Amino acid sequence: MYAKVIVDIASSAIDKIFDYRLEEDYPLGSRVLVPFGPRKINGFICAKSEDTELDKTKVKSVICMLDPMPVITEEQFKISEFLKNRFHIGLADSIRLFLPPELRADKVKDVFVSFVNLIDIEKAKEFKLTLRKNATAMQKAIDFFILNNREHKESEVNKTFGRSVIKKLLSENILVERIEHVSRTPYKNLLNEEKKNITLTPLQQNALDIIHKNEKRTFLLHGITGSGKTEVYMRVIEENLQKNKTAIMLVPEISLTPQVLSNFRNRFGETVALLHSGLSAGERFDEWKKILLGKASVVVGARSAIFAPLKNIGVIIIDEEHEQSYNSESHPRYITSEIAEFRRIENDCTLILGSATPSMVSYHKAISGEYRLIEMKERVNGQKMPPINIVDMSMEIRLGNNSIFSNALKTSLEKCIKEGNQAILFINRRGFASFVMCRDCGWVASCPDCDVSLSLHKHDNVLKCHYCGSKYKVFNVCPECGSENLKNGSIGTERVVEELNLLFPDVKVLRLDNDTTQNKDAYVKIINKFKNKEAQILVGTQMVSKGHDFPSVTLVGILEADLSLYQTSYTSTEKTFALVTQVAGRAGRADKKGEIILQSYSPRHYVYKMAENYDYLAFYKKEINIREVTKFPPFSVIVRVLFSSLDENLAKEQIKVYYNNIQEIKNKNPNAFIYLNKMRSPITKIMKKYRYQILMRLEPHLSREIIDKIFDIDKKYANRQVATFIEVNAQDLR
Ligand code: ADP
Ligand code: ZN
Ligand code: ZN
Repeated sequence: MYAKVIVDIASSAIDKIFDYRLEEDYPLGSRVLVPFGPRKINGFICAKSEDTELDKTKVKSVICMLDPMPVITEEQFKISEFLKNRFHIGLADSIRLFLPPELRADKVKDVFVSFVNLIDIEKAKEFKLTLRKNATAMQKAIDFFILNNREHKESEVNKTFGRSVIKKLLSENILVERIEHVSRTPYKNLLNEEKKNITLTPLQQNALDIIHKNEKRTFLLHGITGSGKTEVYMRVIEENLQKNKTAIMLVPEISLTPQVLSNFRNRFGETVALLHSGLSAGERFDEWKKILLGKASVVVGARSAIFAPLKNIGVIIIDEEHEQSYNSESHPRYITSEIAEFRRIENDCTLILGSATPSMVSYHKAISGEYRLIEMKERVNGQKMPPINIVDMSMEIRLGNNSIFSNALKTSLEKCIKEGNQAILFINRRGFASFVMCRDCGWVASCPDCDVSLSLHKHDNVLKCHYCGSKYKVFNVCPECGSENLKNGSIGTERVVEELNLLFPDVKVLRLDNDTTQNKDAYVKIINKFKNKEAQILVGTQMVSKGHDFPSVTLVGILEADLSLYQTSYTSTEKTFALVTQVAGRAGRADKKGEIILQSYSPRHYVYKMAENYDYLAFYKKEINIREVTKFPPFSVIVRVLFSSLDENLAKEQIKVYYNNIQEIKNKNPNAFIYLNKMRSPITKIMKKYRYQILMRLEPHLSREIIDKIFDIDKKYANRQVATFIEVNAQDLR
């Protein structure tokens, strides 16, 4: 018998399936060890056959199977094919997406715990009589076991009576040992929260009814913040479990809090498996195994959980579907919702995309009938959305207020604190200042390896590059002209905390950003502290905007709303609208009235006007109209080919070759191209590598074919010294 084996080498050049002889009949999907050149490497059996077309004398044999069961499911092989055709992801690379990295590295071992127990009380009593008088430890141990005649953890009794004593009792057949395989369950202690008894609101019931009527479809659940989307998801999952089906629930990595998990554990108990990067290697491995072995029927996880080896799926849910993190924008690149759609069809099941601010692309699909649209326009508790007060910051300066807080925000903060409530201040920039500049000669501290300015981090007293992570000493004088007249540029989270400490010396402030959450548990700790009201103000980046339910928050301040507005992405207005709506949704969730203060230098921008009225539909109409006129997605497909090299000349030569080839394609398919050009990338250098790019916009219905051709060019001309990245509809085009 022969097996077709995908060898585990991440390189498109060797992305091939090789034939091996099977001395033993291993099942499909098994991970096996195979000889490959002079090495022995991992491979995966993707097909079996009686015969091979190769020279039989040269075909090598599979050495052995590496796990007690197959690790890739039949459906996953199909997903692999899909990833290859749709996203040009190699087979070996796609299989890496399916498995916990720890498995391939053979790093994680199963955990076993041993228990000991008396074999027979009478026998133990007799044995005790044979002991010498001074064998007190042994006597005490026997007494203990007689008195507490049940299983005890071996590690614990070892500690109390000494390892040698227990060992002796085992060898004398007084004690018997039982070994148990245990699962490392993440956040185990979350299991005991009380259950809420929830009666659905009419809007929630309506949503469920619509889903029932069209089970095999894709839905876009557009529900404002606090409309109770999670409850709808959970009901759908519940019904599927009753039919012995399974469910995948995706949430953005950042909102995968113990809060979400405890909700799910309370409802669905031990059948919930959790997959995300915050788990320890062992936990991740065990959760994955639980799914593979069919012991879990609900998978909750971040993006990569879409690849979970779950069988018989009844529903897939993507919560906060507008989140950019669902699109993998580094290798391997893929779009989660498309994989979800593929699995929906494979499993003939339901797919629900949910959001308070759906992406333009998804809402467009809903309007055009590709998705079934469900609206929930009221909060479960009937509360109005909190009013948004837009403050013109240039007016503040004209009125003599140079502080980072507007007078309105200061007043509201004072009031909020005095009333014992809590406030969230949002600024999408970490650190203390985003740049340091000399007022006399204009010099700006910048990273020598990247074409960006360095950010000042006061807490660590360093200048940091947010691109390569390098740290540099803080300057006291300008290295160019020697002036001490240095200025700290735009404010970040650290600076906000410092200003708050000056303004309200007695108020406790917490900071939530990339810098304060480097530790695995720090994020949860900060959130819990704030929830327990150990601090009155929480300052943070977009981390504070996601999904949290803080009943005592009555005030939300958005310090520099414009930050996301003037990014060089066609999605910047869309993102700003979503961000403002999401952050605003954190206030006034319980029975207390909330207030939002939004500080801007462009207070009359349409995005704020529409956000102020929580008018998603008006925003959608305006924005989609602009996209249609200017031909941006969904009315075009943006493709960037990015070149990055230590050698600038090589990068330039390479881009010429690609550009000429693409020009040729364009000449043959003039209708497919809306735009084509080549240029330096907006950030011209990162980690010493020069960056150039070819940008194009393609007609959607002709784009697939063109993109395939670009990948062909890449295969033909790839050069080890110039990395090329082909990005389709990437939002981050720096
Ligand atoms: P969303 O995700 O739409 O912003 P959530 O699902 O977080 O809203 O719901 C907000 C809060 O309302 C949660 O605390 C949830 O437990 C509660 N909730 C949901 N549905 C109901 C209901 N029908 N009755 C009472 N409370 C509900
Ligand atoms: Zn200077
Ligand atoms: Zn750098």
